[in-house]
Amino acid sequence: MTELAQAILRLATPGVQSLAPYPPGKPIDELEREYGIHNIIKLASNENPLGPSPLALAAAQKIFCDIHRYPDGNGFALKQRLAQKHAVDMAQITLGNGSNDILEFAVRAFVTPQNEVIFSEHAFAIYAIVTRAVGAKAVVTPAKNWGHDLEAMRQAITSHTRLILITNPNNPTGTWLRAAELEKLIQQVPRHVLVVVDEAYFEYVLEPEYPNAIPWVARYPNLIVTRTFSKAYGLAGLRVGYGISSAPVADILNRVRQPFNVNSAALAAATAALDDAAHVARVVALNRAGMRQLVDGFTELGLKFIPSAGNFICVDLGFAAAPIYERLLREGVIVRPVANYAMPNHLRVTTGLPEENQRFLEALRKVLKQ
Ligand SMILES: *Cc1c(COP(=O)(O)O)cnc(C)c1O
Repeated sequence: MTELAQAILRLATPGVQSLAPYPPGKPIDELEREYGIHNIIKLASNENPLGPSPLALAAAQKIFCDIHRYPDGNGFALKQRLAQKHAVDMAQITLGNGSNDILEFAVRAFVTPQNEVIFSEHAFAIYAIVTRAVGAKAVVTPAKNWGHDLEAMRQAITSHTRLILITNPNNPTGTWLRAAELEKLIQQVPRHVLVVVDEAYFEYVLEPEYPNAIPWVARYPNLIVTRTFSKAYGLAGLRVGYGISSAPVADILNRVRQPFNVNSAALAAATAALDDAAHVARVVALNRAGMRQLVDGFTELGLKFIPSAGNFICVDLGFAAAPIYERLLREGVIVRPVANYAMPNHLRVTTGLPEENQRFLEALRKVLKQ
């Protein structure tokens, strides 16, 4: 680091000084540029290979005639539609520039540097970033069978705890929590502690015991449930997600929200996307088939994996995965290394189109022999 960079770093808040930026999946363009290869497939960011509903695309395109206007800072139409869908009041909804925005609001609005934020080992990397950014203490509880150990999380609560972040299902492990165990934890949490249940992959989960946490908001005023249009709805590039909580909590979250945090194309596309349940059903069916294809492929290759309820799966190579990741890049296949999640032997693969899954499995077979 240069002397100047060091001097600037010392000006940053202590929390920010400790941050490392989030490592996103490698963009296709970047791989093209760096390796000069074409015909690349990306199964690295849990994106939806079918894209959004045509209704959502049409709604977004229509907005471009009005692009000189600010978006509706209240997101009236989208909130109205969401309130109807989830049987909550509009005052219980907070709209975000992606659901990551809601996580950041929760931390900024409720967590001081004296507070502690609890989340699990192998949980979503954004949690550590938003916690450290405000200078709070991240309390990371050990995982159980790659998933959240709710008893360990409960025992980690102290008088300083202000927030517990739970991912269901979890990214990157794909593990999920059952309704009874999760609600029991929420019930046991003291009222000075807020609980976020991050349901980014909600639509994909087909397990009968998997809960929808939104109805619980009526019983637990300290609960925030987050959802996103980035995954099953296929709108990751537009950035829109939301939180549902008690109205008093939503009021606080909305205080730290920038008035125009969700752009007009995103608002229009998300609202329209909610009218196309058939599209989401197709996406979910494709994922189910893709998951079977990947699981069968791993089994054939003699590789272990963590069973996943999401649209991605972690495969265990049994040795350091980084060189395999690199070799896959040279084959034009982008997957996600998860060493930053303390999983150096795993690669996370998003389900793609059948031919993409096939190409990935063939490339994996090839590079494992190299
Ligand atoms: C992808 C993801 C999100 C959603 O991020 P957006 O900001 O809505 O795109 C949230 N939580 C988890 C665990 C995720 O994997």
